[in-house]
Amino acid sequence: MEKIYDAVVIGAGPASAAFLCGVSDSYKIALLNKKASRKVCGGLLSPTAVKYLDKMGLQVPETVKETPKIKVIRTVDLRGGFTRYYPRNYVNVDREKFDRWLISVTQGKFDSYCGTCTGFEKDGENFRVKYFDEMGEKFLLCKSIIGGDGANSVIRRTFSRENGRKDMYIAIQQWFFAAECEGHENFNAFSCIFDNSVSDSYAWIFTKGDKIALGGAYPKADSRKRFETEKEALKKIGVTFGEPLATEACNVVFGKNQQKFLLGAKNKKIYLIGEAAGLISPSSLEGISSALKSGFELGKIFTPDENILPQYKKKIRFLKLKLRFKRVKSFVLCTPFIRFIVMRSGITAVDKKL
Ligand SMILES: Cc1cc2nc3c(=O)[nH]c(=O)nc-3n(C[C@H](O)[C@H](O)[C@H](O)COP(=O)(O)OP(=O)(O)OC[C@H]3O[C@@H](n4cnc5c(N)ncnc54)[C@H](O)[C@@H]3O)c2cc1C
Repeated sequence: MEKIYDAVVIGAGPASAAFLCGVSDSYKIALLNKKASRKVCGGLLSPTAVKYLDKMGLQVPETVKETPKIKVIRTVDLRGGFTRYYPRNYVNVDREKFDRWLISVTQGKFDSYCGTCTGFEKDGENFRVKYFDEMGEKFLLCKSIIGGDGANSVIRRTFSRENGRKDMYIAIQQWFFAAECEGHENFNAFSCIFDNSVSDSYAWIFTKGDKIALGGAYPKADSRKRFETEKEALKKIGVTFGEPLATEACNVVFGKNQQKFLLGAKNKKIYLIGEAAGLISPSSLEGISSALKSGFELGKIFTPDENILPQYKKKIRFLKLKLRFKRVKSFVLCTPFIRFIVMRSGITAVDKKL
């Protein structure tokens, strides 16, 4: 007879790892993750993310950390010609190592399957979660489904029937040797670059060890062209890059007005966590803390025998409110005139030497 799991968790990102951390050992859990591919990410842990890790009883090991520690956000308004520095404290990590470490602390709590989930269907009282591996199509039977499968969640698409989501941008990131780049006068800074002629989101530059990454979030149409235009515009202010070592891209949830939170399917024991649920900051694209919070909170209250969506919604209410407030911040930062006023005022800005 087929094994029936209490839950199948799809994805092995921070949201799923946090769920596994919080969930009781007494349940039969399967973790289904597709073959490892590099996650496009800045790999910066905000103080909130560090706080959640602490709540989960975890501390980022030194082996996962990268240099430098980010102490300041350098905000550049390309068209307005303004630069301001804002103090922040981010832990710089190697994102791949970070994800591997987080999952490793929950080893023993789940059966692991490697394959790409293609959706699910009802099978009597249970669900049949379908996936592909190198041997072909397979399935797992379970009582409930946890979608921790990121921005392009197949679980979300399967039950929500959302066609053509409007809150999706393309993030493009390119890597260079730091020694071949010029104009990055403060390597302890995470640079945010605003240029509304290419995107109403923002671009970023950060250092990781001996490499520098330039990235940006763009509307889907002409995203690569917009990235190259931005790179050219940076050249004009003396910020240059060497030969690209790698270029990567992925979907990212972004939409000043349309970002849609969805925590699960009503009365169906299907739950979404992290970016699959739309839980990411629209102003900074910071999402690891929300992934940790949503995954951990769901894990703690999880039971396979009843629909816990109402309780889960209650636990996430404040986070949703916080992210909605960040939409206002995003509106301020992404609207040239208001941004001009805020940056010019110098409110909360510091001397770059701090
Ligand atoms: C360019 C960029 C930079 C970012 N920088 C930062 C940053 O510096 N700091 C920060 O806090 N946040 C950052 N974010 C946001 C952050 O990366 C995400 O919000 C966070 O990773 C969400 O975690 P998650 O666990 O929900 O999803 P993910 O980390 O995306 O994990 C999803 C998992 O699901 C798996 N998966 C996906 N589809 C399937 C499938 N069909 N079958 C099986 N497995 C599947 C993937 O392999 C992956 O393991 C950035 C995002 C982008 C796009």
